[in-house]
Amino acid sequence: MTQKTGRKIDFSILNEVFGDLKVLRLCDERYGASRATLWECQCLICGGLHRVPRFNLESGNTSSCGCRKGASREVARRAKVSENVVGKVLRGKWRSDHRVSEAAAERVKRVAAELNYQPWYRVRS
Ligand SMILES: [Zn+2]
Repeated sequence: MTQKTGRKIDFSILNEVFGDLKVLRLCDERYGASRATLWECQCLICGGLHRVPRFNLESGNTSSCGCRKGASREVARRAKVSENVVGKVLRGKWRSDHRVSEAAAERVKRVAAELNYQPWYRVRS
């Protein structure tokens, strides 16, 4: 057997939540040439399962499964604003943008609440 006895795998990220993704288990497969560990994660928004290399979780590169992209589009469509405005309003940064009216901001907030949509994510400190 040519089993590599290298670094021990650090399981401390099990059950941790990175953005929308919760780490469920270590996959048997490894990722790319670096043989990075792959972790099966569950999206806390849509329940979808995704395999994500550890470094992408810890760096914040991968913090969602992509399902929220559609959600943000949906908020924009219903509130009749651009997707860019949705992000600004929900991050509280729209007041510095004169193109976003108070009424539009209120619409975005209302629709986002209806759809239970929040664009921000927690980054592990
Ligand atoms: Zn998802």
